[in-house]
Amino acid sequence: FQIPTPQNEPVKEYRPGSPERKAIQQALAEARNQEVNIPMYIGAEEVYTDNRIRMAPPHDHQHTLGHFSEGDASHVQQAIDAALAAKENWASLPWEHRAGIFLKAAELIAGPYRATINAATMLGQSKNVFQAEIDSACELIDFLRFNVQYAAEIYSQQPKSSPGVWNRLEYRPLEGFVFALTPFNFTAIAGNLPTSAALLGNTVVWKPAYTQVYSAHVIMKVLKEAGLPDGVINLIYVDGPVAGEIIFNHPDFAGIHFTGSTKVFQEIWKTIGQNIHKYKTYPRIVGETGGKDFVLAHGSANAEEVATALVRGAFEYQGQKCSAASRAYIPASLWPEVEQVLQKQLKSIKMGGTEDLTNFVNAVIDERAFDKIAQYIGRAKQDPGVSVIAGGNCDKSKGYFVEPTVLRVDDPKYQTMCEEIFGPVLSVYVFEDDRFEEVVQLVNTTSPYALTGSIFSKDRYVIDQVDKLLKNAAGNFYINDKPTGAVVGQQPFGGARASGTNDKAGSYLNLLRWVSARTIKETF
Ligand code: GLU
Repeated sequence: FQIPTPQNEPVKEYRPGSPERKAIQQALAEARNQEVNIPMYIGAEEVYTDNRIRMAPPHDHQHTLGHFSEGDASHVQQAIDAALAAKENWASLPWEHRAGIFLKAAELIAGPYRATINAATMLGQSKNVFQAEIDSACELIDFLRFNVQYAAEIYSQQPKSSPGVWNRLEYRPLEGFVFALTPFNFTAIAGNLPTSAALLGNTVVWKPAYTQVYSAHVIMKVLKEAGLPDGVINLIYVDGPVAGEIIFNHPDFAGIHFTGSTKVFQEIWKTIGQNIHKYKTYPRIVGETGGKDFVLAHGSANAEEVATALVRGAFEYQGQKCSAASRAYIPASLWPEVEQVLQKQLKSIKMGGTEDLTNFVNAVIDERAFDKIAQYIGRAKQDPGVSVIAGGNCDKSKGYFVEPTVLRVDDPKYQTMCEEIFGPVLSVYVFEDDRFEEVVQLVNTTSPYALTGSIFSKDRYVIDQVDKLLKNAAGNFYINDKPTGAVVGQQPFGGARASGTNDKAGSYLNLLRWVSARTIKETF
């Protein structure tokens, strides 16, 4: 049968006076006037505990959004039990019925829940309305719709048969349960990691970042309303090591779908390796981790385009995208104009809470992130080889605010050119134009990551040369564009090296990891 042709959800513009602007303002006001009490979802139960954790907008410490119930080891065990109990029915449900649930969820987010999920992302994760619209509403809708198409493509792949022999491939889910460990920075990714595995017939234990529980809860409500059976996705809020101790020792642990830091992913990988003899099956390990994403300009590039890409690539969502531009290599001939446009654009940017829709920059996610970013900026200020050419102020009195900061470094291997900061800090290295080839090598070797990167040039020979030399330096490579904002169905997303297993989110390549195919040969 034919599945609905997926379409990217059109991004709304939130112009003054538009219906979507009124709807989001109303949803924000409603959310601010109530304190939610968020349970875990385990099997058929909504589980409340005495360990209530307070949620506040990162940009406003004084305001209480509500509380969520933190669980302990017993809840992890219950979530695994619920996932295993739901498995047989879910896996044997014809896949189009599973798909129907996720397509319904997409329509609920596109319609009645759009403002709710955007408001939750804006308040809980301090993301402005445009970024929330793109990455909580539209990108999640896109994941839900396009994954159905990718599943259909996978299921339709069959081997050759011959007279007297009928060969078949049965795409079964993995044997056991899948663990989805999801990040704060993209509500869409948090929703995609459990649902993509579930679409292929797996049942899931989902542990979101504590800083994203507020919007994770909205996703769960949508999935329930769309008809997701109990136990298919079990949403728990438990301390990482406590959850890991049970999950990674469980014989039915069948895979992890992860987005988060390189350090945590490597620890998890080690633990899984140490426990490998305990599992019934080799677990699938799928992770998207850190980045130190570059923008490389050639003397032939348009300076204004480079500057705009830097401002958007480095500072949208306060630089808290794995794909964010964080190191730039600009030829001396272009730099005066790039710097001038950068300064001008940064001066026009407003910083503040997300309730004021004209603020472009909001707060970083929490105190730990704030302190880490502030330390990098503090050290840079002390270093004679670094000049702060924009921003540089940090203030956590009302919320975790860090000004968009541009550092010009003399040493292309200065720490802010190599290490992931995950905040609104852009480091720029200016080079003499005739050193371009040497700089391309620097781009390739300066950081252990390989997530995204951009080349700006009008010269096709240069573009071709950089494309070849940097082919392992970025899983998502952009020509004359910023390195952020991959669209589901258009730019499958993921990186290699220290950036992850490169199982491209938003493509069949990712969904393939959630099936364990059985080959059947029948002879007549
Ligand atoms: N897919 C996002 C982008 O292209 C980045 C995802 C992430 O930060 O993990 O900007």
